[in-house]
Amino acid sequence: MKNYDVIIIGAGAAGLMCAITAAKRNKSVLLVEHARKVGRKILMSGGGRCNFTNMYTEPENFLSANPHFCKSALSQYTQWDFIDLVNQHGVAYHEKTLGQLFCDNSSKDIVQLLLKECHQHNVIIELESKVTALEAMPSGFSVSVNQRSLSAGAVVVATGGLSIPSMGPHGFGYQIAEQFGLPVLPTSAALVPFVMNSRWQKQSAELSGNSFDAIASNHAQSFKEAVLLTHKGLSGPAILQISSYWQPGESITLNLAPEMDLASWLKQQKQQMAKSQLKTVLSQLFSKRLAAHMVTSWLKLNTDDNKVMAELGDKELEAIGNTLNNFTVYPEATEGYKTAEVTLGGIDTHSLSSKTMMCNDIPGLFFIGEAVDVTGHLGGYNFQWAWSSGWVAGQNV
Ligand SMILES: Cc1cc2nc3c(=O)[nH]c(=O)nc-3n(C[C@H](O)[C@H](O)[C@H](O)COP(=O)(O)OP(=O)(O)OC[C@H]3O[C@@H](n4cnc5c(N)ncnc54)[C@H](O)[C@@H]3O)c2cc1C
Repeated sequence: MKNYDVIIIGAGAAGLMCAITAAKRNKSVLLVEHARKVGRKILMSGGGRCNFTNMYTEPENFLSANPHFCKSALSQYTQWDFIDLVNQHGVAYHEKTLGQLFCDNSSKDIVQLLLKECHQHNVIIELESKVTALEAMPSGFSVSVNQRSLSAGAVVVATGGLSIPSMGPHGFGYQIAEQFGLPVLPTSAALVPFVMNSRWQKQSAELSGNSFDAIASNHAQSFKEAVLLTHKGLSGPAILQISSYWQPGESITLNLAPEMDLASWLKQQKQQMAKSQLKTVLSQLFSKRLAAHMVTSWLKLNTDDNKVMAELGDKELEAIGNTLNNFTVYPEATEGYKTAEVTLGGIDTHSLSSKTMMCNDIPGLFFIGEAVDVTGHLGGYNFQWAWSSGWVAGQNV
């Protein structure tokens, strides 16, 4: 006799959605969570307002060694399905930008919605309980929870990634995968700010907090959003996005005036503002401080910074314009898991069925959410992956 039809390890976004879906199918469900609360990352997300999905979710918004893997789950449970659920519970929300939907009031609204669904459908939630071991039995699994041994026909691993180490424990999902012979792809911090070298930090210290719109790009991707200067280096949405595509040692290019050909514009300005200094001209586009900093630190002009526009040759202005349209930076590192929103890599999708999230060779064992090698862009995509993969597993346990 089994204790439960399904035991789900981890009550984050993916585990909660999976529990609700399985319980709606009249499965007996135990959801085990090591922390004192469910959905801690939901609570801290989106600056306390949870960017719970994105209206324009497409498979192209996800990184994975197998870019096709996410398609099935995302089409079985779409952003519109989650928006329906949010509407059913009367949670107020708005589009902030680029299809990103945020709660009007608080991330708590999303957690409450999920808890209400869990209670309605008799999901048993055990908080402050850590799963420490999982064994396959002739039929089903034995799960060690707080020194007890429980059994279930199916187990869903929804233990998340490695970001925010203070929230531990982390890595149990990868450990289980390895125990069952499933490959785990190398992991790294993603959607994370960059740390610049100490010289940059020293020179830019007083600019911390300045932001501007730019296109951040590398050989793989481009993102047009805000860039924020921090006391350690660079952050803001454009930087977080490109960080997921960055490898140590690589450069990033910032187009600091995405809508303009700065070389031509500066030559025009030379006619109109002949007696102004370059920093004054640039302060039409950037804050005064940032414009001055660009001239003294970023442009590394082989000329007197105080020259007026009339004294700058067209070739020189072209070079300045081109540099600012293609400003190359070499981040020293990322801030790492401490501030990363997500983990890149994880359980190799080749071992899982994209239609069910079950392991191909281990009937009854499922992996969902961030633990799996599917990572969304910034903008609500990571929660959508949690909802979609959780729902699909819940339909198949
Ligand atoms: C600061 C921050 C802001 C974010 N903002 C957004 C946003 O606005 N929009 C968006 O789409 N994404 C956002 N994300 C990303 C998003 O939070 C995650 O992608 C998502 O929470 C992953 O859900 P999950 O259920 O897979 O994992 P998690 O939410 O990490 O849940 C895993 C759970 O498993 C538990 N657990 C682990 N091991 C065990 C064990 N052995 N026994 C019992 N329990 C265990 C953990 O305690 C945890 O509660 C943000 C992330 C961070 C860090």
